[in-house]
Amino acid sequence: MATVAILGGGQLGLMLGRAARDLGVEIRFLDPSTNACAGAIGPLVVGSLDDEAAVLDVAFGADVITYEWEGVPAWSARVLVDTEHVVYPAPDVLQVAQDRLLEKRTANDLGLPTAEYRPIDSVDQAESAISVIGTPALLKTRRGGYDGKGQRVIREADDLTAAVSELGGRSLILERLVDFEREVSVLAARGRDGDVVTWPLVENHHEGGILRTSFATRGDDALQDKAESLVASLLDRFDYVGVLAVELFDVDGELLVNELAPRVHNSGHWTIEGARTSQFENHLRAILGRQLGDPSPIGSAAMVNCIGVLPDPSAIASVPGAHLHAYGKEPRPGRKVGHVTVVAPDTGIRDERVDTLRPLIPAAG
Ligand code: AMP
Repeated sequence: MATVAILGGGQLGLMLGRAARDLGVEIRFLDPSTNACAGAIGPLVVGSLDDEAAVLDVAFGADVITYEWEGVPAWSARVLVDTEHVVYPAPDVLQVAQDRLLEKRTANDLGLPTAEYRPIDSVDQAESAISVIGTPALLKTRRGGYDGKGQRVIREADDLTAAVSELGGRSLILERLVDFEREVSVLAARGRDGDVVTWPLVENHHEGGILRTSFATRGDDALQDKAESLVASLLDRFDYVGVLAVELFDVDGELLVNELAPRVHNSGHWTIEGARTSQFENHLRAILGRQLGDPSPIGSAAMVNCIGVLPDPSAIASVPGAHLHAYGKEPRPGRKVGHVTVVAPDTGIRDERVDTLRPLIPAAG
C-alpha cells in the first residue's frame, strides 16, 4: 500500500485524506496543532513545519511527501529532497508562491500578464513606484499575506508613506488596482509523465477578503483555452507534479495572474461532487505517478464556504443537489469551518439553488 505524508493538517489535508482512503492510500500529516482537523482521517505528527526532526519524522517510510499549505518553508521541503525523499511538487515553486514579487516576475517571464507592479524596499523606492503605478494602487507585503491581510489601498499618492510605515520593515510591492470584471481561478493537475488535465474555469466571489462563493462556470471556449495554456506554461516552468491553482483577474477577456497556490485549492472543492475526478484524487494520482482522471464537469456546480459557523445540516439537506462538508473545526469568526457544494443540471437551476442556499449559510466574519 502506498503511503503519502502531507505537510500541513488543515481541511485541505482532511479532504486529501478522504480521497486517499478511497484509493487505498495510507496518509499521515504534520501540523503544529494537536487539534489539526486532518487528524480525524489519519495519523498526525504534532510539530512545527520548520522543525527538521518533525519533518523527517512524518516523512519516514513515506513513498511521497506533499503539501496542503503553501506557507511550508521551502527549506523544509528541500531537506526532504536532500535526504532522498520524493517530494511533489518540487520545493522551488514554494519559494516563488510565497513571494508576490517572484510570482509576478515568473509569470511575466513566461509572457503572462499581471497587474503592473514595483517592489518597494525603501522610502525612495516608494516615491518612484507611485509615480510609475499611479493611483488607485494596492500596497502589499511581498510575503505572508493571505485573505487580504497585509494589504492597504492607496487612493492618493500622499497616503503611501503612512501605509509603508504601517506595513513597516518588510519588503513590499505596489500594484496597480485592477478594474477587473471578475475574479476567476484555473486549476490543473500535471502527472509525473507531464500529462496535464485542467478543470473548467471557476468564478470566485469574496466577502471581507475571504472566498465565499465559487461558480464552476466554464468561461467561453476562448477564455478556457487561454486559461489552459496559461496554467500549462506555469506547470511546465516548474516541471510541476500535482495540482496547481492560479488566481486570475478577468479584464475584458484578458487574464492577469494574481497568485499561485501550489496545492489543492478552495475554489476547487466543487470538484468532489461536480467533476468526474476531484482535485484531491487527481493530486494523489499525480504525485503517485498514476494516470490522471477525467476533470470534466458533471452538470453545473457551485460552492459556498461556511465561514465562522456551520449551517443547520437539515436545512442544507432540503436543497436538491446540495452537499455539506464539515471540517470538524472549532467555530471561530472568519474561520473556514466547512463548505456546501451544489450540483444542478444547468447553470440557471444551479444559480437558483445557490440563491436558496445563501441565506441558509450565515457567515460569522
Ligand atoms: P491577494 O491576497 O493578492 O489574493 O488579494 C486579495 C484580494 O484583493 C483579491 O482576491 C482581489 O479581490 C483583491 N486584489 C488583489 N490584488 C489586486 C489588484 N492588483 N487589483 C485589484 N484587486 C486586487
